[in-house]
Formats: sequence, C-alpha cells, structure tokens
Amino acid sequence: MKSIDTEKNKSAWNSLEKGDLCEMKIFIDGYKEFISKAKTEREASDYIEAEAKKKGFIDLYSEDNESFDPKGKYYAKNRGKSIIMINIGESDLIDGVNIIGAHLDSPRLDLKQNPIYEDSDMVLFKTHYYGGIKKYQWTSLPLALHGIVYKSDGGKVSISIGEASEDPVFLISDLLPHLAKDQNAKKMSEAVTGESLNVIIGNRPSDEEKNPFKLNLLKILEEKYKIKEDDFKVAELEVVPAGKARDSGFDRSMVMGYGQDDRSCSFAAMKALFSKESYKRSAVAVFSDKEEIGSVGNTGMLSSFFENFMAEILFRIKGSYNELMLRRLLSNANVFSADVVNGFDPDYPEVSDKLNSAYLGRGVSISKYGGSKGKSGSNDANAEYISKVRMLLEKENIVWQTAEVGKVDQGGGGTIAYILANKGAEVADIGLPVLSMHSPFELISKVDLYMAYRAYEIFFREMA
Ligand code: MN
Ligand code: MN
Repeated sequence: MKSIDTEKNKSAWNSLEKGDLCEMKIFIDGYKEFISKAKTEREASDYIEAEAKKKGFIDLYSEDNESFDPKGKYYAKNRGKSIIMINIGESDLIDGVNIIGAHLDSPRLDLKQNPIYEDSDMVLFKTHYYGGIKKYQWTSLPLALHGIVYKSDGGKVSISIGEASEDPVFLISDLLPHLAKDQNAKKMSEAVTGESLNVIIGNRPSDEEKNPFKLNLLKILEEKYKIKEDDFKVAELEVVPAGKARDSGFDRSMVMGYGQDDRSCSFAAMKALFSKESYKRSAVAVFSDKEEIGSVGNTGMLSSFFENFMAEILFRIKGSYNELMLRRLLSNANVFSADVVNGFDPDYPEVSDKLNSAYLGRGVSISKYGGSKGKSGSNDANAEYISKVRMLLEKENIVWQTAEVGKVDQGGGGTIAYILANKGAEVADIGLPVLSMHSPFELISKVDLYMAYRAYEIFFREMA
C-alpha cells in the first residue's frame, strides 16, 4: 500500500496498489463465502474450527499434558457457540499477549419454545427477537431457518432451510398500504410489534378435523426432520434473512449481506491470525457469543471461558499455576476489540457529528470511546495506547479513521472492549464502518474490511 495524503483525499481506495487489489479480491471472495454460510454463532464457530484445523490448530482439551507443545497452536470451542485460538509465541505469556476479540452473534429472530400455531388456515412460528432490531425491517423479505433441535432420545438435528436455491423460504407479512391508515399513524417503533413477528410456514391442510393445517405441517416435520412438536421446547432455532452476501454498487466497491456485525471483523481476525506461522508475542483470537444481548451467559465475553483458557495454557506451559500469572498476563495484554461501528449515512446526517464519524471507504476505524450519555459503559481507551496503534498502522500505510457512535446524547452503543479493559489490559475498538447496521442487509466497503485485516495482521505480528 502506498502512502496517501488523507487531508487531500480521504478514500482508502487511493492507497491500494495492484498487488493489494489482487489480495483484496481473494480476501473478499473468502469473506462473502463465510458470511453466506455462517449465519449463526454455531455455524460461525464450526467454520472457524474447521479452518483452524486445516491450519494445524489442535483442540486444547483433546490433548493431554505430555503431548502439549509450548510453542503450539491451540483452540477451544465453548458449547459450540464461541471459540478461542492461540498461536503461542516465543516470549513469556506473562509478559503479555496480543488479543483480538470479536463476536459471532448477530441480531435475529429466535423461535419461542412453543412456536407452532394455526390461525386462519395458516401455520405460523412465534418468535422473540434477539439483539437490537427495528422490527418493521423483518417483514416482507425471504427468511431462512437455522439451528438445532433435540429429540426426546437426546439426538440432535441440525437445521438449515432457505439457503439452497431449491429450498423453501419463509415470510413475515406486512399490512397492505390500502389498509394501513391506522398503522401508518403509529410511531415507527410501535407500527410492527414484537409479538406480531410471526413467520408463516404453511397453508395446506391434512384431512384431520381439528387443526388440519398444523397437523399437516407437523407430519412434514416428522417425516423430513424426524422432529415432533414437543422437540421445539428444547431447540435453538434462529430466523435470519435468506440468501447469500452480494457485491454492491456498479463499481462493486461494497458488500451487502446479513450479519456483518460482527462476522466481518471475525473473519478479518481469523485470517490475520492465520497469516503467519509463528509469532514473537502469543497471538490470541477470541470469538465470543451473546455480545448483542450484553455479553452475558456462559458463552458471552463476561463468562470465565477466556480466562479459563489462558489459565489452562499457562498451566500447561509452566507445569504449575497460580492466579498471579494470569493477572500479570491480562494486565500486560494488548487488545483490539474488533467490532463494527456506524458509518456516516448521507440520508441521516443529523444523528452524527461529521467531523468525528467514520465514513465508508476511509479505512479501518479506531474508536477511542463508545457508550452513551457521557461515555457511560465505554472503555475510553488511553491516548498512549491509541498512539502506539497509530504508529503501527502508519508504518505500513494502513489507512485509518476515527469513529464514534453518533452525536453526543443521540443514543450510543457498546462492544466487548470494556470487559478485557476491566482486567487491566490495554484495549481499543478497531473495526470498520457499516451502514444499515443491525438490519437484515448491512452494507460495508470492501476496502475498510481489507484495511481492518491488514491492521489486525500487523497487530499480531508487531505490537509489543
Ligand atoms: Mn458488534
Ligand atoms: Mn451489534
């Protein structure tokens, strides 16, 4: 990449040389495949695990102490929904590790435990949304169903319906404009309610007298997937937008697709970790779950899973363990909290400060702070750390920009940054801008994701 004068022309595209464009094309093709295939945290964890195995990473908990390699590459999966990888470096872990943390979960509609009902000759699924959504956006678009169901004998059934071209898709209907007089007069947040986000799944009866439509559907589910109505009580099924991620724009400069918050940063972090065979400082990539609902639960970043993993690594390397080792490791760690941020939207300039917003195409974004109402809930990174990051990026002409989540007191948002900062690590939010964030189809600029990848790559390689 060549150095550009960002005072004159801020677009990161101007810094790309021929070789960068070729590398970026391959990177983005892989990315589109990833987000098209991995639509849930489970699918994303599986994908990353498969890639890690190809790169020689070994399941930490499948190995015994004797065969442990203190310079090895290990991973651990947490209940199929989150995953951590480490490439153990030359230097002592206690002197610090370089960590990139992203999240694999995205806003969606989860099926309720008793989802199936019949109404007006139709069969529907009841849902409860997960994460921050604008409910009206989830009507009138093709939907797919992904997840798992447990049968009464404990057998697991994996479900993915709506992605293959011959698959059926599903719909949440919206009211026709002809009859939407009352709905149109409502506040946008109330025009479509959470309880009305019901997915239409059938319209053909059996010859049964009572509930013929529902019974016909249950028959199909049993025949095709060997699942019964009761099994939905022990299922995790997610309704997500159907279809693949696509290039966007005549110039193909952007990618449009579901779940780019935060599987774009997840993909870049994974690729960055794989870019080198060995590191000076240990390189750790954390892919967490539940970020969209507050990082809670035993698969979220607030759980002990990450610390337990690092403690286990320390124990295996040192042959003994005490808590002080882990505390030293964490307080000497450098962290990139890899997450997307809102891009400046020319249709809604009033919510952002033009001077401090991130823009699509202007490179990887660095947010010193997030949160809301006086930076509350934000990690507010230290100037000393941001300065180190800046020098690192500028060394390789990686184009970066500042970012903040909208105007002061307009709202706000958080990431996992504060969680590792609370443990004493240096943390900054480094990601990329997204338009239409948390909608069924989010938009990013290819060059920003590529710059994020390059930033993550040099971070693992050189951050001290
Ligand atoms: Mn996010
Ligand atoms: Mn989000």
